[in-house]
Amino acid sequence: MMEVRLILGDQLNVQHSWYKEPREDVLYVMMEMRQETDYVRHHIQKVVAFFKSMRWFAGILQSQGHQLRYFRLDDSDNQQSIEGNLQQVFQEFDATSWAYQLPDEYRLDQMLQSLSKKWDLSCSVADTEHFYTEREEVQELFEGKKTFLMERFYRVMRKKHNVLMDGGAPMGGDWNYDQQNRKKLPKDVVVPEPFSPKHDVTDLVEMIEAAGVDTMGDIQAEAFDWMCSLEEGEEALTYFLEHLLPKFGDYQDAMTTQSTTLFHSRLSFLMNAKIMSPQYVVDTAESYYRTHKGEIDISQIEGFIRQILGWREYMRGLYWAKMPEYGNMNFFGHDRKLPDFYWTGKTKMKCLQHSIGQSLEEAYAHHIQRLMVCGNFALMAGVHPDEVDAWYLGVYIDAIEWVELPNTRGMSQFADGGIVATKPYCGSANYMKKMGDYCKQCHYKASKKTGDGACPFNSLYWHFIARNESLLRDNPRMGMMYRVWNKYSSEQQEDILNQADQYLENIDEL
Ligand code: FAD
Repeated sequence: MMEVRLILGDQLNVQHSWYKEPREDVLYVMMEMRQETDYVRHHIQKVVAFFKSMRWFAGILQSQGHQLRYFRLDDSDNQQSIEGNLQQVFQEFDATSWAYQLPDEYRLDQMLQSLSKKWDLSCSVADTEHFYTEREEVQELFEGKKTFLMERFYRVMRKKHNVLMDGGAPMGGDWNYDQQNRKKLPKDVVVPEPFSPKHDVTDLVEMIEAAGVDTMGDIQAEAFDWMCSLEEGEEALTYFLEHLLPKFGDYQDAMTTQSTTLFHSRLSFLMNAKIMSPQYVVDTAESYYRTHKGEIDISQIEGFIRQILGWREYMRGLYWAKMPEYGNMNFFGHDRKLPDFYWTGKTKMKCLQHSIGQSLEEAYAHHIQRLMVCGNFALMAGVHPDEVDAWYLGVYIDAIEWVELPNTRGMSQFADGGIVATKPYCGSANYMKKMGDYCKQCHYKASKKTGDGACPFNSLYWHFIARNESLLRDNPRMGMMYRVWNKYSSEQQEDILNQADQYLENIDEL
């Protein structure tokens, strides 16, 4: 008797009950393969981070005495697909059954379900034992509702898991300190360097290149600085708590050319690959806060925990509630191609140049850069959500569809018509100026809507508002924008719209 158990590249949870003890009748299978390197054009650092972490995980399993068949990308007998490799392993080891853990992507879920029906081998499915919630929990909470309010879900989660609670009440008296999480970075605040291990990954990069995988972005192969193991994750979390948490909430939304990571944790890849558990991160952060209460304000820790216990679980639940329809939603009917500068960073708009540039260099941008710079521009320019999704899914180290899609198509592009967000996240140069230091260093003038050097964000903002009036006018949170727009004279409106049209016609030159 031999059971073959598949471990996907984002299922690197060493604490999973599968691994309690080595068994002679169980063989684990892991595979680096073209099926996963090629379904979208990924950042080279993302491919390297996955392979490096998978090899770390394989080493742990082997050191614990588990039987493992590991396919490297360049192995001559690698069939480069889950189906092909599994069939080969079934034959090699005379398998009598097989098993997999619930995948988090719809695409893989469908594929594995259909393989389990197709093959004449008994198949069982295990949970990944990673998330706080079951797949269906968000759907059940919002049954029959048009909008899924994250805040409602978040409060349920705080109570259910007893996180940041004082008895039955939220610690500090309020559930949410979001209002205090929106400060611009003052000149005198020193941002610590991010925690960054240095790995030599030349061998992996050479292998990926030799295989001809089409990637994007840059990598410093001799000093790759992403955390790819549980030990590194623990060090990164400790570093975050000691050096970054005290100001995390304050500058969560700030944007600056002084730093690419500010006070953010860079833990998303580790959690999304399931190397680190969200419970572990939340519990460790909460106990650190409880022992350092005098030094750290509640708004810092609440802001951090809300992202993980709230947003991360909520986005996953929403994905499972709405797939596969969600992946085709296009509320505004947008159809523009993504401007070329998203692939090069070559634009005169400083905010986009910096945010896209760092995304290509580091496979990372923080939340507000993703939402209010890269996403905001694509939304106002009317880029097709498929194009936007493909870019986000490829470029970020942490991009896996279950979390990328609701954030991009939902929160950032409002293509779901308002399931995630109560209004579109669009903003003019006023927002950039308020939250960042980009405008001071820009070719364009943030104060100008039209004419020479006018910031494109200004006219595009009004273009977006005006062209979508029939869809947005009745949204209570948009009423003020329409009142402001209607205060402009018809000549002013025409000038602004003409300016935007001119920019849109020459979008690749901006
Ligand atoms: P921190 O700011 O330190 O936050 C701590 C943790 O909270 C993160 O590690 C992450 O696990 C979680 N988190 C924060 N915000 C969110 C959110 N909105 N949804 C889910 N989890 C969240 N996150 C991804 O993990 N993968 C993606 O593909 C992804 N795509 C995004 C696309 C857009 C358009 C936007 C606006 C956001 C996206 N996010 C995505 C959410 C967020 O930007 C990243 O999780 C965060 O920037 C990761 O950096 P960090 O670990 O330093 O986060």
